[in-house]
Amino acid sequence: MKKIQEILGNYNCQAGGVFSFNARTQTITYIPEELSREEGKLALLHEIAHMKLGHFTYKYDIELLDLEHEAWEETRRLAKDYGLNIDEDHIEECLKSYDQWLSKRASCPRCGTYSLQRSDNTFGCFVCDCYWEVNERKDRRVRKKIISKLQDTSDKTQAIIKSQKHRQLVPCLLFLVSCFFYK
Ligand SMILES: [Zn+2]
Ligand SMILES: [Zn+2]
Repeated sequence: MKKIQEILGNYNCQAGGVFSFNARTQTITYIPEELSREEGKLALLHEIAHMKLGHFTYKYDIELLDLEHEAWEETRRLAKDYGLNIDEDHIEECLKSYDQWLSKRASCPRCGTYSLQRSDNTFGCFVCDCYWEVNERKDRRVRKKIISKLQDTSDKTQAIIKSQKHRQLVPCLLFLVSCFFYK
């Protein structure tokens, strides 16, 4: 049986206040105190999964959901090697909050229609012709600003966190490189 502590030496891991994977630097951040709990161990494996699967870039929000599904699938496999139990309810909750985050960004601030993403942080409604920009700090609550037309943005790294109130609900802060900028 593999030991979870060995991961810290075998991968590029650093202690911090969140669980995250940075694709650009290939670094995993973990919360040391959480590693004594089953959920914390799974959170670390989940970040390892992103790294092992080579998650690096994406274009539209919706692809992120696929990456999360893939990462959890890999986490289930890894958990066996480490003798960890998988809490399916927890995974379900993580994916659900992710889905909610996506829907919030994509629904039109004027008429509520689920709309089309036009670039990494701009959306456009095909019903009322409204365009909006979502906030760059994606680890915060979704904020939308109505814009007159599509603008170019300079945000090159996308940070995704599924947070609720103060506690990080979903153990994954994902830094990927947006395809709109990655050449
Ligand atoms: Zn609309
Ligand atoms: Zn993840």
